[in-house]
Amino acid sequence: MKISTLVSKIPASPTLSITAKVKELRAQGKDVIGFGAGEPDFDTPDNIKQAAIEAINKGVTKYTPVGGSPALKEAVCASIEADYGLQTTPDNVIVSCGAKHSLYNLFLTLFEQGDEVICAAPYWVSYPPMIEIAGATPVIVDTRSEGMKLTAAMVKEAITARTRGIIINSPSNPTGMLVERKELEEIARLCVEHDIIIISDDIYNKIIFDDKEFFSVATISPEVARRTFIINGSSKTYSMTGWRIGYCVGDATVIKAMTRLQSQSTSNPTSFAQEGAVVSLRSDQGIVEERRKIFEKRRDLIVSKIREIPGLDIIPPDGSFYSFPSIKGYLDRFGSAEGLADYLLEKVLVAVVPGEGFGADDHMRLSFATSEKNIIEGLERIKHALTAL
Ligand code: PMP
Ligand code: GLU
Repeated sequence: MKISTLVSKIPASPTLSITAKVKELRAQGKDVIGFGAGEPDFDTPDNIKQAAIEAINKGVTKYTPVGGSPALKEAVCASIEADYGLQTTPDNVIVSCGAKHSLYNLFLTLFEQGDEVICAAPYWVSYPPMIEIAGATPVIVDTRSEGMKLTAAMVKEAITARTRGIIINSPSNPTGMLVERKELEEIARLCVEHDIIIISDDIYNKIIFDDKEFFSVATISPEVARRTFIINGSSKTYSMTGWRIGYCVGDATVIKAMTRLQSQSTSNPTSFAQEGAVVSLRSDQGIVEERRKIFEKRRDLIVSKIREIPGLDIIPPDGSFYSFPSIKGYLDRFGSAEGLADYLLEKVLVAVVPGEGFGADDHMRLSFATSEKNIIEGLERIKHALTAL
């Protein structure tokens, strides 16, 4: 059957494809080491699981309001006040089926044909396709020559009369980089001057290393907060990727329009998953810090192991659980990052995500949301495969 023109143009998410491929190979009995997964390897904390089980037993198994239960919206408002010092009300919140779904609703609600949305490369794989689904045009600002750090000067150069939005993702997937505070302040000033909406995807805001601090544009001034939409969710902070709970916080009129859109597509996110999310936000946050420390140790380990491999180069990530080394030293040999990723999978059963999908075809992404043992063994295998050339 004929596939619509719109869907024909959408690439499959490469991060999800690699994760699926690793699972398939493991099911065939292959000893694959996977650096593909964009999800914590930790289990969901027990108190969160128990809350969802109890919710099912209590009969919280029916539709909730489309944009999320009042209890979860209140919990999101409380966490926004704690983390950003911003006062919001449930009217400013929509809960969706993952942060990805909130972003999708937001792009579709705000952007259309003729609009341009600025997006720093290397970018998370789903931003450009989602902007395009909305009919708008992603304007890619390449940060590779500046050590993967988005600057206000780059943004200024990309602004045109058609610019309607900009995505800030700090720490970033896939680079792990934070955008410097002074750059964010200047970017925010440009956004006010040119009437640009800011999408602040803060999904890695609790996974930051070296005593660096999370800083959000939304906190710069009430004027900037008014034009900012904060995106976050349960997936990364609470190891709840399969629960599919994410949210967007921002202008109440836009949130209401997004809720209308959601009412004609998924309706509410799963009722008992929302109950788990309430507990995740309301309970003691000690486990988040414990896990952050583990990620930091793994970051140090993976960076040191990558640096032992000739031809690879890495800027240590400030946060997230991704390392994004340059593979320039091997491009001539393999022609592309995809070529190198295929070679590593075939030769030594190591799965990485090639850089093409992130807008950086001279890099590859290795997630360190995996054990130290896997990091040591996997990087040993990569070293062996590359030095054998
Ligand atoms: N934003 C970024 C930058 C991500 O890496 C992800 C990865 N899953 C998401 C949003 C979406 O997360 P989820 O839909 O699982 O909440
Ligand atoms: N965001 C994660 C990743 O980058 C999960 C997969 C996805 O949704 O892309 O791997």
